[in-house]
Amino acid sequence: MKNKITVTTCLTLLSVLFFSLNCFGAVICLDPGHGGPGTTGCGALYPPYMEKALNLDVAGRVKAELEAAGHTVYMTRTSDVSMSLEERAIYAKSVNADVLISIHFNSSGPHDKHGTEVWTSAFGTWYSTGLALGRSIISQFEALGFESKGVKTKLGSKGDYYGLIRNGVALGIPSVIVEQCFIDNPGDRAILDGRGTAALAHADAAGIISFFQSDAGKAITAGSVTPTTIPVPAAAEENKASEQDAAAVLSGNAPAGAPERDVPAQPAPQVSKTKYGFPVDANGNVTYTDTAGGQEVFTAGEWTKLLANWSYTEDPEYYLRTISAKDLRTILEK
Ligand SMILES: [Zn+2]
Repeated sequence: MKNKITVTTCLTLLSVLFFSLNCFGAVICLDPGHGGPGTTGCGALYPPYMEKALNLDVAGRVKAELEAAGHTVYMTRTSDVSMSLEERAIYAKSVNADVLISIHFNSSGPHDKHGTEVWTSAFGTWYSTGLALGRSIISQFEALGFESKGVKTKLGSKGDYYGLIRNGVALGIPSVIVEQCFIDNPGDRAILDGRGTAALAHADAAGIISFFQSDAGKAITAGSVTPTTIPVPAAAEENKASEQDAAAVLSGNAPAGAPERDVPAQPAPQVSKTKYGFPVDANGNVTYTDTAGGQEVFTAGEWTKLLANWSYTEDPEYYLRTISAKDLRTILEK
């Protein structure tokens, strides 16, 4: 009799445990950033590390750990294929994801930046959810020895600057980009080399699991978070107007009474600038200066070819700027 009671109690406890696990199990869409043939779509590149492959490696390990903890996990890509940011968000929506988590590694021109950062939406509940999830992940990376660069937001003319986040929240999914560490920084790299991708994946998984055990995470799986309506930015038209004004001032054709803009004086031979301000001469040659002061002159054709390496993003030059002048020349010679 005593045995029978014990068995019944055990079975009851097991079923309660199973129910709770199931109850709090989230649907998580992992997005291994970048992907695609050759150096196009490789993301950060710092031999022997190629970001697209590292992202895939880590995401696969995170998936296994999350599944073992009772969550349902999907991945936007499981091989080296290129996908647009919008396609990634649409895929997350198609699997009914509670969150979209994009896995990345970082790099910087002068190789002096380090630490873990998480990007999320700047708006309302998208922000509060991303902040809680991001903090949970970052604290695990701090335990590995990485410095926290915090949970950040960035705005562009379309609202949230990063396309993955913008497309994700537009489809109703809280979205974050995890920049785990800088693959080109000696300090970060020592931890990555020493601990391996398994340790980083474990940090991601532990952060995600603990988020879904928190009130913020439970609210997401319970569907009790009211999604924030994101305002359509009025800034887009204004920026366009200000760019036109600036161009007019630069060319000396500013209309009378046009507002003064903060346009720096330019040397005479220069006819224009690239998006992020690299001088373009009359023949279309671009003088590129990296953040460490390294300089290369690229022909118009070379510049177009370089930008094509980041054509999967909405802002190729933004990414190109993080690469040293010397490395850009090397990419062209490949
Ligand atoms: Zn990346």
